Amino acid sequence: MMQNTAPTISHALYEKAKKLFPGGVNSPVRAFKSVGGTPVFIDKGSGSKIYDVDGKEYIDYCASWGPLILGHAHSKIIEAAYKTMLKGTSFGAPTKLENELADIIIQNHPFIEKIRFVSSGTEAVMSAIRLARAYTKKNKIIKFEGCYHGHSDALLVKAGSGLVTLGEGSSAGVPEEVIKHTMVLQLNDERAVEQLFEEHGRDIAAIIMEPIPANNGLLLQRNEYLKFLREITKKHHSLLIFDEVISGFRVGFTGAAGYYNIQPDIITFGKIIGGGFPVGAYAANNEIMKMVSPDGPMYQAGTLSGNPVAMAAGYAQLSECLKNKFYTELEEKTKYLANGIMSVKPEHLPLHIFQVGSIFWMAFTQRENIRAANEIDTDSMNYFKKIYHLLLENGVYLGPSGYEVAFVSAAHSYQDIDRTIDIFDKIFKYTI
Ligand SMILES: *Cc1c(COP(=O)(O)O)cnc(C)c1O
Repeated sequence: MMQNTAPTISHALYEKAKKLFPGGVNSPVRAFKSVGGTPVFIDKGSGSKIYDVDGKEYIDYCASWGPLILGHAHSKIIEAAYKTMLKGTSFGAPTKLENELADIIIQNHPFIEKIRFVSSGTEAVMSAIRLARAYTKKNKIIKFEGCYHGHSDALLVKAGSGLVTLGEGSSAGVPEEVIKHTMVLQLNDERAVEQLFEEHGRDIAAIIMEPIPANNGLLLQRNEYLKFLREITKKHHSLLIFDEVISGFRVGFTGAAGYYNIQPDIITFGKIIGGGFPVGAYAANNEIMKMVSPDGPMYQAGTLSGNPVAMAAGYAQLSECLKNKFYTELEEKTKYLANGIMSVKPEHLPLHIFQVGSIFWMAFTQRENIRAANEIDTDSMNYFKKIYHLLLENGVYLGPSGYEVAFVSAAHSYQDIDRTIDIFDKIFKYTI
């Protein structure tokens, strides 16, 4: 529906890209498969806006999938990266910039004492799992359906059919042997976790979760459930890993750990931490981090880890995040947007907006709560698909999937948000 019929530069670039890359893209969700149509190719971004190669402007709520909490091409970040770049782009030797980024994080984050920088969220989580296993000398891990932890083999596992636990690879090319230690549960089910610990407690190295699951809708958890996971892991000498690649520096500087006031054993970071450059990190207390090479026996390394340009960009971004009222203003704006969309929604349209901090997710459902992946209404995606192209045509850019959350950045003005609400109003009127 409503797909561009006129040949566009995006179209031509996509045709060319399909000859060069699988599906024409370098990360699958960009291909628009779940909404149909042709991805728009982006030429540039500035503040809250992005501009495609055909010159069309969009208010952007994808924010490169989360990293750009200050919006596009923020002057402080560009300046810091540029100044650093002029001195060279990589040395493979320590720089002061690594200290500075680590310092600003650790000084303002009471849940961690030591950190290791890597180059992506995937790498951070993969290393955190290895660290948990090295520290506990146990093998099994528990993950949850609906939480995404990057694309390393051991985590590309979905709940199998039958009575829970034994997961199936969620990708081809993942050997059974590699995932046999990964157990998968639905979120929000204390009893299921207890059962696994009763059965395998001696060999569970860690529970890994997104404390604010935001990769498969926004599955907001009960605080008591998170506390329960904290308690049961402690009791069995297993670790609790919070994968805060999205929630870190997003719902507050101290992420979900701070938001719920729960001390996890290991935290992983990505996205915002690099200011739009490829950075990930894992962090824990000194005792756990002592395991990591060269202090300890757990090996992990990276040619471009702690890259100076990325460190400088991350530092510039996080410095802005630390300013007074940064997060409260961001959340107020996001609530204003969510309320605005709800206020123009037609009465018969089943829509609920889940929101925390500056993250929001539109679920086309009657449900007031969705806490587990299997509670998401698949019908919701049909509604999303229907409005997606209309939003796009009217100049609002969201991540091209109904399972993806959206982000408000500090660069979004109330004018941007009012315009967004007006556009929703307009398209609700003639679609639904
Ligand atoms: C994005 C994400 C990852 C993967 O990070 P990449 O940088 O894409 O490798 C891992 N965990 C969570 C929670 C994420 O949101």
